[in-house]
Amino acid sequence: MKHGLLTFVLCLLCALPAQAVKFSHTEETYSLAKSRFLVPTLLYKNEITYCIATPAQTPTSPTADQLDILVQAALREWTHGIAVRIRAAGREEEMADILKILDKPLRLIRLSSCNLTSHPQFLAVHPSYNPAGLSSDLTVILSSDYCAKVLGSVNSFFAFEYKNAAPFMCLTQNYANPLRAPAPQDYFPAASDPQKRELLKQTDQIFAQAAAGTYDTDVQDQLWQINRMFAWDGPTYFSVLVHEMGHAFGLGDEYLKDRPQEYASPAPGQGIMLRLYNPISCDEIDGMITLLDRFSGVQRTFASFCSNKTVIQNGKALPVSETIQQQVKKQLLHPAAR
Ligand SMILES: [Zn+2]
Repeated sequence: MKHGLLTFVLCLLCALPAQAVKFSHTEETYSLAKSRFLVPTLLYKNEITYCIATPAQTPTSPTADQLDILVQAALREWTHGIAVRIRAAGREEEMADILKILDKPLRLIRLSSCNLTSHPQFLAVHPSYNPAGLSSDLTVILSSDYCAKVLGSVNSFFAFEYKNAAPFMCLTQNYANPLRAPAPQDYFPAASDPQKRELLKQTDQIFAQAAAGTYDTDVQDQLWQINRMFAWDGPTYFSVLVHEMGHAFGLGDEYLKDRPQEYASPAPGQGIMLRLYNPISCDEIDGMITLLDRFSGVQRTFASFCSNKTVIQNGKALPVSETIQQQVKKQLLHPAAR
């Protein structure tokens, strides 16, 4: 959606269309400088800097330190988490060059403050908040009032370009916080058996491990199981952070119609860019691979992670023919060197 100088992706949390649409690279990747997205940071740097502003803290909203853990876990889910999924699919050799990027020991550095001096209307909403701070690769603002002021409605969003402001995400304050230390009597309909109730007790530990520890399939599964248990009455802050971060890398919303047809998969993977209850899916894996290739100029033909009957060649889904199947077979045997 574009609105004058404001270019943003609105995160609609209301009813979604029954007919899912394919993933795509968001329109802004066609119109804005590559530096607006996190993919070049991932490709060419060894660190991602981020800052968290909580100018409207309430007793029920997450603290900046809790958001810090969720931001780190979300960033690692988009990097190490995708790598874990590629390995789980048995495609380590084929995607060796992609894994080299996703696996690198990326340092996630939280800056002590956000530079919000160029964010229009920020001071009008939060006049007592000091907007002076450092510029970072990713800015996270938690404030329902500010999101509403920018959009005219209360929704979370990611803004790629908003006048002179650096790309930022604005989160509203109406989600479930998985780090909120639930009381014993709290209601968790999805925690239906003793194993899940036991897993709930490990919430802080699992998120801490996802944020900074060993990342493997077990941690990933437990992370999303826990997240789903907290998401019984609406999305969690973790879900929304992961979704908005998908935009930060360059992916579009799957629930919108009329997406760009280039750089898109033909079959939706039912992932978090479609619905905030879902984990990252095969569709987001295809999306991240094609984003990395597109931003670095790599040509690649590969079978979609959603269906081996779909072939993606240089980001574009192709009708499956014998010729293309042979190309994929060749690619599998001789993966491109990056
Ligand atoms: Zn969105």
